[in-house]
Amino acid sequence: MTTVTLIPGDGIGPEVTAATRQVVDALGVGIEWEVHDAGAPAIEAHGSPLPEHVLRSITTNKVALKGPVTTPVGTGFRSINVALRQELDLFASVRPCRLYPGVASRFDAVDIVVVRENTEDLYEGIEFECSSKEATKLRGFLSYMHGFDMRPDSGISIKPISISATHAIVEYAFEYARKYRRRKVTLGHKANIMKFSDGVWLSEGEARAAEYRDVGFEAIQVDELAMHLAWTPDDMDVIVLPNLYGDIISDLCAGLIGGLGLAPGMNLGKDHAVFEPTHGSAPDIAGKGVANPIAMILSAVLMLRHIGQRDAGDRLERAVATVLANGKIRPADLRPVGEPATTDAVADAIVAALP
Ligand code: ATP
Repeated sequence: MTTVTLIPGDGIGPEVTAATRQVVDALGVGIEWEVHDAGAPAIEAHGSPLPEHVLRSITTNKVALKGPVTTPVGTGFRSINVALRQELDLFASVRPCRLYPGVASRFDAVDIVVVRENTEDLYEGIEFECSSKEATKLRGFLSYMHGFDMRPDSGISIKPISISATHAIVEYAFEYARKYRRRKVTLGHKANIMKFSDGVWLSEGEARAAEYRDVGFEAIQVDELAMHLAWTPDDMDVIVLPNLYGDIISDLCAGLIGGLGLAPGMNLGKDHAVFEPTHGSAPDIAGKGVANPIAMILSAVLMLRHIGQRDAGDRLERAVATVLANGKIRPADLRPVGEPATTDAVADAIVAALP
């Protein structure tokens, strides 16, 4: 029996989580769920969007499956998702984007894994509000020390990129490529413009790549990478990116494989792992029972493999692939020809397709 912390989250979170729990339970692999609220429901019940006992549950169980969580405005939290990643040092966000037969796409074959650095860059939260005392002081300092003339009506965000965090994530990307026999790692950067932040990223990335001669490597500018992805995505394999580019490019890749409703993800640290779909809480469709649960179900596939239940993970992925290939049961975001299937109907179809 493995105990997993289960965080349904908010928005469409509880709906896609219930569907995922149903299909994982149908595998009969003996998972005990420890269910905890985070986000809006946790504020109501515990006065905090990320209560201490939720973090404790993840540190004890080491594994969590998490639905999307919206950060409510005015709670003092910048982002619950970012806080969770920083608290548990979940330094790697891994988002496999695979095109399943039967899903409409402009391309025949897409099989890309985006590996995103998760702890620093512009997401570190070092920000100074426009016209604040701190922003004015910083502007004065930059002008005095370096002659930088910043507009007085600027808001400021700082972008730190460290050698140590780059080392860890690039090493992870190469180890991943080796383990899963991937062809190459592509490192995206903008070192020609951000010489000292992306410069560190590129030079440390190249240094690590030199230690993995058995895996292909290329470094390309992130804007060029975006063009390649829209034009010839089948050339791409594992892509390693700093935090912000990783966020944008993984949504782009989700678009190549049928949209956010099909894009799973995992956040990994040395000791903990949190599995969650790439999509957010989608408030526009929350509570209607129409959300696509497949991104969350595929996140559970990744979780099952992580906890050593490889066969169960493979069975579940095969069932998802069967339902997608069959095409009769399709949620609204996959633009079905006939009546769209509800979240529950998709889960029922996947359970029925389990090998
Ligand atoms: P965040 O800022 O947390 O990423 P967001 O509001 O920018 O959130 P999402 O919530 O990820 O973006 O989703 C954008 C839109 O995509 C949603 O409003 C919804 O219409 C659609 N969408 C996302 N996930 C799903 C899903 N699982 N099923 C169906 N539609 C979805």
